[in-house]
Amino acid sequence: MSRPTRRPAPARVCLRLRRPDDLVERTRWLFFVCVLVALVLTDLGAVPQAGVWSLTLLVGSSAALVGSWVHRYLAQRAAPLLDVSDVLATALFALACPQPAVAYGMTFSALWFRAVYGRTRAVGAYATGMSLAMVSSLLWWDVVPGHATSTPADPVLGALPVMLLNAVVARHLARGLFEREQAQARDAALAAVGSQLLGVTDRDLIQRWAWQAADAICRATPGLRVAVFNADGEDVEVVGHAGAFLHPPPALPRDLLPLDGVAGEPRPFPAPAALTAAAGHAAWMSIPVPDRPGRVMLVGAASAVPHEGLVAIRSLVNQVALAMGLSDAHRDLQQRAHTDALTGLANRAVFSTALADSLRCDDSAWVLFLDLDDFKLVNDALGHVAGDRLLGQLGARLTGVLRRQDLCARLGGDEFAILLREADEDDARALGRRVVEVLSTPVQLAEGTARIGASVGATAVRRGASETEIVQQADLAMYAAKSAGKNRVQVFHPGLLRSDETARLAVELRAAADNGELLLSYQPIVSVADGRCAAVEALVRWAHPTRGLLAPDSFLDVAEQTGAIVPIGEYSLRQACADGQRWAELGHPVPVHVNASATQLAHPRFVEVVRGCLAREGMDPQLLVVEITESTVLDSPAVQATIDELVRLGVGLALDDFGTGYSSLTTLRSLPIDTVKIDKSFIAGSASEPADQAVVEAIVQMAGRLGLHTVAEGVETHAQQRYLEDVGIDAVQGYLHLAPVPAGEFTAWLCGSPGSRSAAARATVA
Ligand code: C2E
Ligand code: CA
Ligand code: CA
Repeated sequence: MSRPTRRPAPARVCLRLRRPDDLVERTRWLFFVCVLVALVLTDLGAVPQAGVWSLTLLVGSSAALVGSWVHRYLAQRAAPLLDVSDVLATALFALACPQPAVAYGMTFSALWFRAVYGRTRAVGAYATGMSLAMVSSLLWWDVVPGHATSTPADPVLGALPVMLLNAVVARHLARGLFEREQAQARDAALAAVGSQLLGVTDRDLIQRWAWQAADAICRATPGLRVAVFNADGEDVEVVGHAGAFLHPPPALPRDLLPLDGVAGEPRPFPAPAALTAAAGHAAWMSIPVPDRPGRVMLVGAASAVPHEGLVAIRSLVNQVALAMGLSDAHRDLQQRAHTDALTGLANRAVFSTALADSLRCDDSAWVLFLDLDDFKLVNDALGHVAGDRLLGQLGARLTGVLRRQDLCARLGGDEFAILLREADEDDARALGRRVVEVLSTPVQLAEGTARIGASVGATAVRRGASETEIVQQADLAMYAAKSAGKNRVQVFHPGLLRSDETARLAVELRAAADNGELLLSYQPIVSVADGRCAAVEALVRWAHPTRGLLAPDSFLDVAEQTGAIVPIGEYSLRQACADGQRWAELGHPVPVHVNASATQLAHPRFVEVVRGCLAREGMDPQLLVVEITESTVLDSPAVQATIDELVRLGVGLALDDFGTGYSSLTTLRSLPIDTVKIDKSFIAGSASEPADQAVVEAIVQMAGRLGLHTVAEGVETHAQQRYLEDVGIDAVQGYLHLAPVPAGEFTAWLCGSPGSRSAAARATVA
């Protein structure tokens, strides 16, 4: 900002001599012109009769008077020394006049001019001085050469009371003018701060403008002083001050400050010595600041706090309190808009903005996505209120491990994201591990102990990359961490991203279970002996929002790769148990087969999930059959342990897609299974192909010897059905009986008479 250029002195004088607009200054200008004209006129009257001495005195005193007045007018204040000079000059001026009383022509105007400056006391002294000057001119009259030896005193003494009366009236009018001007200045200050504070929410700015207004009010109210003290904490500190202080106000003892008064209401305050030392002798009022407990404003002035000044200060206090209240409300709203209410962490919007900023200008940021492992189980077991409390506690733990420059946000549900600024891969891994560590420490809630874990995906923020890209990478990495066994950190690498399509599918899949987009179809396994429904297989479907109903083949691979198979599998188990229990309660206790992949079975919580589902539905474990494939169990001790646990639970096991693996015989012997499902590829050719028939017959014989049930999958024709009956298969599954159908349709099928359906099937088979 350029500084305003200072005008040269003559220009400034010319500017001052122009008639001002402001009422007080205009009145001063008028009286100034008046006194000059009066002087000139009196001089003109005196000069013709003046001798040399009188003329000298006349010129000298006139010059002194003019100099003093010009100074007063330009400086806008009266100087005591010049007042004395005025008195002396007036005495000389009166001595130079043909008669002293002639000088009254000038002195009256001089008094009027003097009355519009300074304090009343000084004006009174000036008037007295001028009176003495006039009287002294009588006493010294005969000293001036050329004067007659005496002059009549009456004209001088007789006019003296009138002159003093004039001084009183002039001063009275001047005070009226001053008060009006001060009131206008206070109103202007209040109006200015009022419009400044409109819509302002920055507290510092509000304070700054408030103190500016307080300054203006103090300037407009001579002698007024204001100080605000804050006794919020242990120490009482001075927040700010304005007006006539000799030194900055001191910190007062806490017990001296009247903190218990009614907010906004002034009451007298006996000033302690420390305050008097800082502000001189003054009367004080204290006003507790509204809406700011612990804050007190002290307002003081010389003998009594002027009413108008107090009113203005109270009005200012109220305006500021209102602005502060609005600022608080605004901050509160902003806080709510930016904060996740449950955890107090930032919300998705804040994270998104911060990430966008980093993408624009930060080359050393990392993003961590974390998903709580098995949070749903806690919600299910301990209730949603406990779940919410758990999230709150975990939020606090997360905040505890972050550095100052990091940002942690809850994205929703049990998902969190961290933006690490000024970090490298080592930092990201270290913080990820720390996060896993703190989140997997059990949390003690009133409802019980919550044990969860966290899977963390990390990716570097590359400048110029898109937000979606980074989020997708972090998401993929997180799911990779999940599928790798949870409770771990996975850094993103391009291998995780097979194609854009896969990545998109992966992201969508993650949300599918939460969004209720998954559903189950059911296909009966029909007993060959009596045509009854021997069991039912649950097959998952994805009702994709844009691509319609998707079969598992189109998404299970991606689900496996990204770990999304875990929530999908949990959904299948939960829903299948719920439906199975419903059928049992309807009088049709058919075992429900649920497919489980290797990832699911290797997951440490699989058995717990199964146990939870059974417990919640109150389902007989024997009504649940988990379908596994031979490849699943090969060389995996984790899966082996899960299988043993399932058997201990009483859950049935079926070997799916049998015949397609290598070590069929070994597997059959070593696994605690009770059902073998012959893969549909052998059934397709079983009615005609001798090779397929050989496999099917070998499996049926071997299973028979091992005491296992046999199910043929993919039975589509009567010829296949006839052949399978002939070789002694126990049950069949396929389109011939019923394609996979929604639960409602299957219920209707199940509740229809199995005998008649069986008869119909047999009739067609025959
Ligand atoms: P699967 O376990 O072998 O399931 C049987 C598949 O054969 C089902 O395919 C079923 O619709 C189909 N099918 C039934 N009858 C016939 C028939 O007569 N002819 C022919 N050609 N096919 C028939 P779907 O539903 O597409 O499921 C495909 C695979 O997805 C399943 O094969 C299973 O391995 C997997 N899957 C399905 N649901 C789940 C699940 O909840 N979890 C897991 N992990 N895998 C699942
Ligand atoms: Ca199956
Ligand atoms: Ca199968």
